[in-house]
Amino acid sequence: MKNTSLQLLVHAKDISSAKVSLIYPGVELKQVTAVESPNYLFLTLNISPLAKAGTFPIEFKTGKKSSIIYNYELKARKAGSAERTGFNTSDAFYLIMSDRFCNADTSNDNMPGMTEKANRSNPDGRHGGDLKGIESKLSYISDLGFTTVWMTPFLENNQKVYSYHGYSITDFYKTDPRFGTNEDFFHLVNTAHNLKMKVVMDMVFNHCGSFHWWINDLPAKDWINQWNEFTRTNYHASTVMDYHASANDRDKMVRGWFDNTMPDLNQNNPLMATYLIQNTIWWVEAAGLDGIRVDTYPYPCKYFMATWAKSVMDEYPNLNIVGEVWMAKTSLVAYYQQDAPNRDGYNSHLPSVFDFPMFYAIGSAFNENESWDKGLVQLYDVLSEDFLYTNTDNIIVFANNHDTERGFSIMKEDIRKYKMMVAFLFTIRGIPLMYYGDEILITGKKDKGDGDIRKDFPGGWADDKMNAFSSSGRTNEQNEAFNYLQRIAKWRSNKTVVQNGKLLHYLPEDGIYVYFRYNDNESVMVVLNNNESPKDIKTARFAEGIKDFTKARDIINNKNIENISTINIPAKSALIFELKK
Ligand code: CA
Repeated sequence: MKNTSLQLLVHAKDISSAKVSLIYPGVELKQVTAVESPNYLFLTLNISPLAKAGTFPIEFKTGKKSSIIYNYELKARKAGSAERTGFNTSDAFYLIMSDRFCNADTSNDNMPGMTEKANRSNPDGRHGGDLKGIESKLSYISDLGFTTVWMTPFLENNQKVYSYHGYSITDFYKTDPRFGTNEDFFHLVNTAHNLKMKVVMDMVFNHCGSFHWWINDLPAKDWINQWNEFTRTNYHASTVMDYHASANDRDKMVRGWFDNTMPDLNQNNPLMATYLIQNTIWWVEAAGLDGIRVDTYPYPCKYFMATWAKSVMDEYPNLNIVGEVWMAKTSLVAYYQQDAPNRDGYNSHLPSVFDFPMFYAIGSAFNENESWDKGLVQLYDVLSEDFLYTNTDNIIVFANNHDTERGFSIMKEDIRKYKMMVAFLFTIRGIPLMYYGDEILITGKKDKGDGDIRKDFPGGWADDKMNAFSSSGRTNEQNEAFNYLQRIAKWRSNKTVVQNGKLLHYLPEDGIYVYFRYNDNESVMVVLNNNESPKDIKTARFAEGIKDFTKARDIINNKNIENISTINIPAKSALIFELKK
């Protein structure tokens, strides 16, 4: 590793007074740090590049004649590990709620030692989905046209209730046994790589679960952010960069708890900071990750998050990391993309962000009646702020995720709007993301609770009446949605001009939005008609994008257009033209 320092957290009763020693070629014990609790020691080792893989004993001498021996294994790195290529614009994300996709192993639904038992009839309970289930459906996801899987966290969440979502981690190094084992996850990643797919791990640095093993014996009071009485974050992330914001509001934002079951980690404790950074590097290395999605990105200390991102990217310069900066304004989101020219000099070192402003715009654009400031111009206006980003390709675009109303519900259950949404996501700049079940038009309302937007994928459980993993198990309308998405996703996966070409767009007029993705040789023209009537469009206005192209291949309807001087587009629909000469 570039960073040769290794911190070990040692937890055992009254270990703090132990004399520590180890002898292994290339490994040096640099420092032993005792903390407030007598039950911890933090060891700092230096691992020289000359150190060979192997196991060595660490001796903790606890008395004149007594000692504890811990055999520590130093593993060999895989060849090429540091050079891995993370997700990029050639990819398309498929987001999975790990508990709600496929239950391939019912024997792990209830596990000894894990408090919450499976209860599929409870929308907020555990339903039994697991890593083997996800692995068994990777070829389904690949066949749908997606290259990258982001699954919600699968680490141990041994909480009494509401533990299925995975964001209340109770052991940062251990897969929840109800999802499987660490080896199951490594196997899943390996299978994905064999299918030429990528895996993105969802990580949480802001908080842990209230039943984390260290909560009853904290290394130090400041291991977590503690208040005299329960203090919730104000969820107002603009306080982080707002130079008018009060220190009080900013403090509450960052040090307040996300929920009463989610103790807020104190990343300003340097031992905690190193613990979190090493944990990430361990998962990237051990599992062979292709990327990371960071939960609640603005909520931890921003300087820690910058150090974290830089430390990870220093080890894996081609990895990619996307942060969940859930803010409605591009100016606030762009603050967090690496090398942003921020007034306060802050550099996050975070390569990618989610395009939440576009998420909001998509939600209104296809539902509004067209006017000067309504309808498709909402999409245009978000893109007009792209100058705020340092990299407009490395941005993830989406119309829904596991925390929002379901995309098909946002589209008012109108398959025409769904198709426009899909066409837009897969042709606009950035990296498209869809949420499991979008392809079969799953509905769900946020105001009915998170269970409603995280329903089980039909066919993922052996006793399901319907199996939407196969075309014969889908309704006609579901197949129409599935096939439309599949056609465009697969086309995009081979179309570099759409993946990373430049964008040229025209102000929407009369409910028609036209844009081009182009490079020196190719051009793709996208037309969106938001009207309830078909339109004939004279294309002379778009000469700058059309250049000397005269014909087109209509990739949605799979036909050739011999003359593009006038384009006929049906009501509420999208056209995608590969321009030809
Ligand atoms: Ca299971």
